[in-house]
This record gives sequence, C-alpha cells and structure tokens, in this order.
Amino acid sequence: MDRILEKRIFAEKNDGGLDALCRDLVSYQLQSWPALKHAYEQLKSTKKRVINCNGFFVIIQHNPRRVKNIMADGVNHFSIESCFLCHKNLPSEQMGILWKEYIILTNPSPIFPNHMTISSIDHRPQRIERDIKTIFWLSLEFGPNWLIIYNGHNCGASNPHHMHFQAILRGSLPVEEEIKHKERVYVIFHNNLSLFKLKDMGREVLCLKGKDLVELERVFINLLFQLKTLTNIDDEPMVNLISFFENDEFFLIIFPRSRHRPNIFYRKEDPVYVSPAVIEMAGTIITANKRDFERLNDIIIEKIYNDVSLEVPLEGLAESLECIELFPVS
Ligand SMILES: [Zn+2]
Repeated sequence: MDRILEKRIFAEKNDGGLDALCRDLVSYQLQSWPALKHAYEQLKSTKKRVINCNGFFVIIQHNPRRVKNIMADGVNHFSIESCFLCHKNLPSEQMGILWKEYIILTNPSPIFPNHMTISSIDHRPQRIERDIKTIFWLSLEFGPNWLIIYNGHNCGASNPHHMHFQAILRGSLPVEEEIKHKERVYVIFHNNLSLFKLKDMGREVLCLKGKDLVELERVFINLLFQLKTLTNIDDEPMVNLISFFENDEFFLIIFPRSRHRPNIFYRKEDPVYVSPAVIEMAGTIITANKRDFERLNDIIIEKIYNDVSLEVPLEGLAESLECIELFPVS
C-alpha cells in the first residue's frame, strides 16, 4: 500500500460491519473536518416540496451545494493529477475506510446525512460490468439499512473517469415506498430470480431480485447487452442502479436511460437546471437554484422523465435473457 493511502485510513474492513463503521466515520469527520460539519449544518436547513404526479410522487430538494454536480459536463478529461476522487488529491482532513479495492469516504456535498462515496483505490473509468459483483457485496456488507447506488459514466456520474459507488441510508427515496405496492409490480419472469417492472412511474423502473449472485450477475450482464443493442451504443448503455439486501435476497433497481439531460435543461430561454442521476430517477429531484425549486411542477417533472428514460420492450425479453443464460458470463 502506498504511504499516501496509508495516511488516509480511518479503519480497514473486509467482512461486513460497514454500517456501524460508516456512522463512526461520519461522527469522526464531523469533529475533524470543519468543511464537512458546515455542509451537514447547511443540509439541516435544506427545503423540500412533495409533488404528486400521474401515478407517482417526487420530492424536490433545494440544495445549492450540488450546483457543481448538476452542471458537471462529464466530458472533461481530467488526469490523475487533477482527479478529485484519486486518494492523493483528497482534502487533507478526509479519511476513509479501506474495503477491498475501494476506500469509503464521507461525501463532501451530501444530499442526505450519512451520504458516503465509495471510490476505487485505482484511477480507472466508471463502468459497471466488471464491478457488478461489487455492488451486491457492498449491499450485503453494509447491511439492510443502506442503499448502494451507481451512476453510469454518461448519465449522472459527476466523475466519469474514476470508478465509484455511493451509499445512503434506506428510507430516503420515493421509489423505496413505491416498490412496496404490490399492485404496481408487474412480474416479467420468475424462476430462481425475478425480473419485474414498476407500473405508473412516469419512467422505466426495472428490478432484479434473487439470492444467487452468479445468476443475478449473469442476467444483469445480459440485460446490459440488450440495452446496448436497443440504444445502438458500443460502450456501456446508460443506466442508474440501486442495490440493497433484504430478507436474505439481493435487489437491483435499474433505471434504463435514453439521454442524460432533458430538453428543458438546454432550452435557450429560461432553462431549468435539473440533471437526472440515480437520486432523481429514484424520485428525489435536486435543484441548486431557488427559482427552479419553486417552479417545478407535475407537468415539468413528467416531461423530464419522459425525455431521459428508456422504455424497454418486454415482449421477448424473458426469452432473450434466458436464452443467453446458456452461455454463462465468466
Ligand atoms: Zn482518479
């Protein structure tokens, strides 16, 4: 281990128990890192509105600290020298929990209290295929109180050049409520794992659920391949992901995307700065400026989701995923 990384380590953990340790890290950093304390103070006064849309609801949060994330263009090729997730560039006060090939950090611009960033020790691009096991392992080792989230490199990751996940506490996002409504759930197939979609959400929401990690990984990779074909993208298709572990089962919520930003973001006159990433797709919409916070309504929100979500044709999907199961992903 290099000496710069060694100095960053608050604790090392490889076998679960991340729930308590992350809470300890947050408490420690609130004492030792004034900028984080200030960010958490600001978070307390964050304003929220609930908006009922056609069949679903969203929470709007006014959070001026997120302006950089909302406006990030995602295409700047910043090098290791300037990458803000490389451990050698972290603020001097920032410490982390070493977990396998990752370091778990407190997010300096939190959307919620206990908002963690899980950053690869190595500078490598944001791609999920190699790390799909990691999102499941993280959800297991963080335990049932947490969600592990992932933003695709071209649909919400504020740093697409450095592999990272985030973790937040459960109970923060509208989609968590909506997934509990049985009448919403439309099962596409069910054998040793289930794939289902949530109806009347104004955007496509798919969910994989099962116990067998090998099977989950295989079906997810096949689904990525289907999305790639559907969108004609050579690289990783646009997806936002949420994973959690509950009652001995893994859940993976998948938001397939057609675009990063809605039309309204780019309109010449009076744009609305909403830049959907996983938190927005899950129903919490972050606005950095007060005017956008006040003027968002059900019609604008439904239009935003319609612009950026990708509808996946269900006919033949089960067959195509099962068919590819004959060729396991190594
Ligand atoms: Zn980096």
